[in-house]
Amino acid sequence: MARYTGPQCRLCRRETEKLFLKGDRCFTEKCAVERRQYPPGQHGQRRGKLSDYGVQLREKQKVRNTYGVLEKQFRKYFHKAERKKGVTGEVLLQFLETRMDNIVHRMGFAPNRNSARQLVRHGHFLINGRDVNVPSFNVHVGDIVEVRTSSRDLDTIKDSISRVEQRGIPSWVEMDFQNFKGKVLQIPSREDIQLTAQEQLIVELYSK
Ligand code: SF4
Repeated sequence: MARYTGPQCRLCRRETEKLFLKGDRCFTEKCAVERRQYPPGQHGQRRGKLSDYGVQLREKQKVRNTYGVLEKQFRKYFHKAERKKGVTGEVLLQFLETRMDNIVHRMGFAPNRNSARQLVRHGHFLINGRDVNVPSFNVHVGDIVEVRTSSRDLDTIKDSISRVEQRGIPSWVEMDFQNFKGKVLQIPSREDIQLTAQEQLIVELYSK
């Protein structure tokens, strides 16, 4: 599956907001948003007021880039959310949160979603004891995500676990780091999803 391979910090600077795409660096003063609080590019410091459409578009781009999903797939999530019972914007975020790469990151096995995606792709994780190497795999309540025994010595995973306190573990997962396992306790509610986005703007954008 295709993915964005350009500079990560540029995406945050475009939104003039931290999207935490790099892991540890995001918590230091080296963060590009902290150093330059204006959009990138020649006219970055001269951009005027956004139209309503512009505001909606930026909100959508922010969420899409946070989860590392391309436009086509993001739109598919939206249409899936529209068909499901509940508040469309919230359901959309729930679909994104329960992607396997996001869960691996949220559980603390990877410093950011990009690394999580690569680790999943390389087959370092099991779900309920079975191989799953699809980053977009939808994890369900009760599923157990586990690091494969032969992968437990990987530096990326060990380093990430050792720094997990900095990022924190969400209340909707239960971790057993000694056995390199985690369980999804519930689908996160909107309050559980730490994201500053106004998802209603995305619904308005796609409903035009
Ligand atoms: Fe974004 Fe992290 Fe880069 Fe800061 S360091 S701009 S939060 S990716």
